[in-house]
Amino acid sequence: MKNIQIILNAILSQDVFEYILIDRAYRITDFSENITRYFGKNVHRDDDIRDYLPEIVGYEDRIETVLEDEKNRYVLETVYKNDYYINIHLEHYSKDKVLILLHNTTEITLSKLELLQYSNDNQLLFNTIKKILDSQDNLLVVTSNNKIEYANKKFLEYFSLKSLDELKERNENNFSITSLPVRSFDALYEYAKEEEKELTIGEDTFLVKATLLEKTYKLFTFSKITKLCDMNRALEEKINRDPLTGLYRKSYFDEKLAEALEYDQSVTLVIADIDNFKAINDRYGHLVGDKVLKESADLIGSQLRDNDLFARWGGEEFLILFKCSKQEKIVEKIEKIREMVDTHVFDGAGHLTVSFGVATSKENDTVYSLLERADKALYLAKKKGKNMVVVG
Ligand code: GH3
Ligand code: MG
Ligand code: MG
Repeated sequence: MKNIQIILNAILSQDVFEYILIDRAYRITDFSENITRYFGKNVHRDDDIRDYLPEIVGYEDRIETVLEDEKNRYVLETVYKNDYYINIHLEHYSKDKVLILLHNTTEITLSKLELLQYSNDNQLLFNTIKKILDSQDNLLVVTSNNKIEYANKKFLEYFSLKSLDELKERNENNFSITSLPVRSFDALYEYAKEEEKELTIGEDTFLVKATLLEKTYKLFTFSKITKLCDMNRALEEKINRDPLTGLYRKSYFDEKLAEALEYDQSVTLVIADIDNFKAINDRYGHLVGDKVLKESADLIGSQLRDNDLFARWGGEEFLILFKCSKQEKIVEKIEKIREMVDTHVFDGAGHLTVSFGVATSKENDTVYSLLERADKALYLAKKKGKNMVVVG
């Protein structure tokens, strides 16, 4: 008894343990003073312990065994009492008494709870990030030391992978996304860390962006720009076309003609000029004049192939570029077009004719020299009486 008191005092001095002694009838026979903090009320001798610790109700059988044998002991862990977390130890004290030790574990429990909360937060954050990444339209991949740690849904779909595990398995076998034109992700990072870079994977073009996340973790974003290219192309088409006739503008035509000459392609250039167009405007007005211009463009265009470049020079003049040097065939075709126009009845304007000047490229020709020859041929056609094809 004395020994135990000494031990108890030593423990109690650390403010970690409090004790209660009870008899067989659950009456309190002794207790340490600070015990009240766990109950929020004063404790008295002879009170029933179950009024203070209802948690031990149901453990009566066990308490019986503790009384019988000093080796028996029970612990009720993490009981919440009056803002404290305590462990309740039931120990043999004597044949008639049970020692109840109340171990204050508040600090430990709270830090454990905090830890748990923290890891829950992390899990929550991770799941949220995963959801965000998966909802992206871009392909996203996170790597560490050249190995893929995470890839979003779109990435897996694009490379026909069923799961991240499948990807990681391939990763283990030194899988580098075979169609990526880089040796490793770290190389890709060096390539794309400063600014977005274009990257072709198979038939698709992507803009790739590399971001260092933390330590060795790198995030790569692949955004498909095929769509963007299509949009640019559509916009370019619009800019390069004349709104009235829908034909290419002279600037675009010159560009293409210059390209063809630069690559030594033999080309034949045709300038078409509506005869006496001023008179049509004068007689029927500019609106009819506009309609005639559109109808002429459609009529001539209907006889051309996709590969032939058809443009409006301005006014009532058109340009046709044939990427072919067989002049005779082209002249034949132009002659057919001339006849077609000659026999066509234009809406609101009736009959009209067109004159044509033709020139085939020679060595050292420039856009200017070729245009000049075709223009001279056109001038001759006009001079000779219009409604004819002249080769320069
Ligand atoms: P030629 O047989 O010698 O070619 O005579 P032309 O009257 O066809 O040629 P000219 O160059 O004298 O006149 C061309 C006219 O085309 C003058 C201009 O008012 C008209 N024109 C130019 N652009 C347009 C247009 O966009 N719409 C309309 N309605 N008229 C235009
Ligand atoms: Mg003219
Ligand atoms: Mg004219």
